[in-house]
Amino acid sequence: SSFLSNSTSNSSAIDEFDDDQGRVINLDHGDPTMYESYWRQAGDKTTVVISGWQAMSYFSDVRNICWFLEPELAKEVIRLHKIVGNAVTEGRHIVAGTGSTQLFQAALYALSYGGTEPISVVSATPYYSFYRQVVEYMKSGLYKWAGDASSFNEDKPYIELITSPNNPDGFMRQPVVNRSKGMLVHDFAYYWPQYTPITSPADHDIMLFTVSKCTGHAGMRIGWALVKDEEIARRMTKYIELSSIGVSKDSQFRAAKIVKAVSDSCEHAYDSNFFEVSYHVMSQRWSRLRDAVKKSGMFSTPKFPPAFCKYSNRTFGTQPAFAWLKCEGDIEDCESFLRDHKILTRSGKHFGMSPKYVRISMLDQDSNYDLFTKRLSAMRS
Ligand code: PMP
Repeated sequence: SSFLSNSTSNSSAIDEFDDDQGRVINLDHGDPTMYESYWRQAGDKTTVVISGWQAMSYFSDVRNICWFLEPELAKEVIRLHKIVGNAVTEGRHIVAGTGSTQLFQAALYALSYGGTEPISVVSATPYYSFYRQVVEYMKSGLYKWAGDASSFNEDKPYIELITSPNNPDGFMRQPVVNRSKGMLVHDFAYYWPQYTPITSPADHDIMLFTVSKCTGHAGMRIGWALVKDEEIARRMTKYIELSSIGVSKDSQFRAAKIVKAVSDSCEHAYDSNFFEVSYHVMSQRWSRLRDAVKKSGMFSTPKFPPAFCKYSNRTFGTQPAFAWLKCEGDIEDCESFLRDHKILTRSGKHFGMSPKYVRISMLDQDSNYDLFTKRLSAMRS
């Protein structure tokens, strides 16, 4: 089976081996390994060599609020947002983080700092399951998890997390709690043109981005926050100082190089334009999934309204990085049903929803994705 997982999508080869019946397909995590093939064919232009004497200091730019941010990364991040048009960068401070996961915690720290009691953190269900775990694991005195934003009605300050497009269900989102004492954190991990139409540049107080789901380099652990308020940017930087004294320079160099390659591909190369290539992979995967769902008749997936993408000049509906699949009929536990077919997914209950739902990664390698849709289309109730 290592032969099979190394081969590119060759379903006739898969057909001949009955051992694929026994192969476990793990689509639980959103590991973006799908992107490996793009970067493989991009070759050496993104190879980074760092000598022993380089990048030794803790500091990158002491004049910047975020003193550990590499200027080259800052430059490439701004350039990419300009090209894609997905976020306003003028008048923003950039804070780098070890993934957007660290920045999310930095934002909570910065927003709740100085409060007299733990501030409520809310997000509308179904929400990104990791938020809750991260908020709860330290038993912080600064903030506490208060669950579904739709049912939050305390007349107190709160922090609302808005993920758009949303993980797990893929819908575009706006704040749900409609009160004046709210502080908002916008998580834009998936606001990139391979997933969803870029309708306007996002313009909010705290916006989180990450290379993980943009370029597929989750292992690099690089994210960035665009922050309007200087004091908040300072406190976020302080949090990262206290938790890790900055962010790996090696990773920042590599991220700058990758992000630059993406921008270059958008400006110079039509047939290897990163977002074009990725858009087509996602589009094919979603149509394959919808076919399989139709054939099987056991499941349903959300429908996304088409919108005009100002980046690609194309009208399309969101094609999310996760499929939010519902078992129709009388199967109550979709996760264990699929596990019996050796497909590992994440149950809706982790996202504050019914176990009739599961979240399925759409970003795995071709061979796994092919086998997954093949198995799904053969399922009957
Ligand atoms: N936010 C959302 C909504 C995500 O889905 C993820 C990745 N699963 C993250 C943040 C974390 O990304 P990072 O790898 O940058 O920490």
